[in-house]
Amino acid sequence: MMITRREFLKWVSATAGASAIAGCATTGAGGGAGRVVVIGAGYGGATTAKYIRMWAPDIEVTVVERGTEFVSCPMSNLVLGGNATIQDVTMGYGGLRDRGVQLVRGEVVAIDAARHEVRLADGSTLGYDRVVVSPGIDFMYDQIPGLMSAEAQDRIPHAWKAGPQTMALRKQLEAMRDGGVYVLHIPMMPYRCPPGPYERICQVADYFRKAKPKSKIIVLDSNPDIVSKKGLFLAAWNGMYKGMIDYRPNSELTDVDVKGMTVKLHFDNVKGDVLNVVPPQKAGAIAEKSGLITANNRWCGVDWLTCESVAAKGVHVLGDATLSAPGMPKSASMANQQAKVCAAAVIDLIEGQPVNSQPMLMNSCYSFVSGTSAVHVTSLHHYDAGQKTFVPVKGAGGVSAQASEAEANFAWGWAKNIWADTLV
Ligand SMILES: Cc1cc2nc3c(=O)[nH]c(=O)nc-3n(C[C@H](O)[C@H](O)[C@H](O)COP(=O)(O)OP(=O)(O)OC[C@H]3O[C@@H](n4cnc5c(N)ncnc54)[C@H](O)[C@@H]3O)c2cc1C
Repeated sequence: MMITRREFLKWVSATAGASAIAGCATTGAGGGAGRVVVIGAGYGGATTAKYIRMWAPDIEVTVVERGTEFVSCPMSNLVLGGNATIQDVTMGYGGLRDRGVQLVRGEVVAIDAARHEVRLADGSTLGYDRVVVSPGIDFMYDQIPGLMSAEAQDRIPHAWKAGPQTMALRKQLEAMRDGGVYVLHIPMMPYRCPPGPYERICQVADYFRKAKPKSKIIVLDSNPDIVSKKGLFLAAWNGMYKGMIDYRPNSELTDVDVKGMTVKLHFDNVKGDVLNVVPPQKAGAIAEKSGLITANNRWCGVDWLTCESVAAKGVHVLGDATLSAPGMPKSASMANQQAKVCAAAVIDLIEGQPVNSQPMLMNSCYSFVSGTSAVHVTSLHHYDAGQKTFVPVKGAGGVSAQASEAEANFAWGWAKNIWADTLV
């Protein structure tokens, strides 16, 4: 017999004499079991919505998402390399609907934490008992004057949100002459997906190797060194892509000259045929508009036991938008794990139950170094009550010894699993 999490908790409170706590449970704004609004149906938001419905089917869950489909950033670098199609990384939201999640297509423009209400761009409002905000990242174009206009942003893609930008960059790579130069600019950490840029270099190199062998790649990394899986990426660059990649650390840009197709650095200018500038990032705009940003004008501080914002009661933030705990990457894997901590805490808080005091998170991240071989990094993070944050578990996790085809198969398995866990 299947027992739901809610039934389990009811049973625990009855048998453990915890009914006094259960008696304090707040009821939903509409007098029912509770209403949750989730902003953003990416990795964090979709997983939270699904798990709340799965663990507490009495709670109403409404997700507001501006997009019509889920387009995965993980595996999207393969589209640039011609090793996957955009359809391979695009999925619908039907699975969430089947779970009883109400999906609203729209843009949230405000969260009124005092009134427990979110407002959409069309003027409509949604009331909530708890709101979960997982808006991902937005780009700090104000730091790159030459890329402030929409035209400039179209001409110089970031492809750091999968979808039309991924396709635009792929088309530019396809249109580039053999012997041309692709320039990738990497922002200073922290940014979404630490190994992502280095995987992208491998994917573009894989494409050039097959289709445009005279072409070159210049990597302008703002960071002093490769920030993730260094030895494994270097093995690919110095092995199968030898002579194709010119990696330049400490190369933070000052601006981009779109007409001249030039990235301007402090002491140098670098011209290219295709420029791929990934700007510095901050929490998605709705976090800023709602006063949820609490660190460095960029990220949202949260209580990691519940993902509740330190700035607004009843508002939970997760995924890339958060101020990462030590050693915690901004990844889909992490957003999916945080979502489960958040979903469980939201249910507990609505039901007046104590939240789990010892949550754990795990992260695994694969990178393809060609179309058919991949590498991984994994880590485990436990909640440290003294430090009130997650910290990496010493000795847990690690990286691949070397790239392999077996890992490429595992990587596709990882992707299919996380897509199902998030959306179905
Ligand atoms: C090239 C690349 C490769 C990557 N590869 C990996 C990988 O292999 N493994 C891995 O673990 N991670 C990977 N990542 C990182 C991963 O994509 C992110 O960490 C993850 O998407 C974060 O989830 P999120 O919920 O915070 O944000 P998202 O998944 O970006 O979801 C945010 C959602 O909110 C919606 N939204 C935002 N604001 C509003 C609003 N106001 N109203 C309505 N909707 C709104 C957006 O449309 C979006 O759907 C990669 C990233 C990139 C760029």
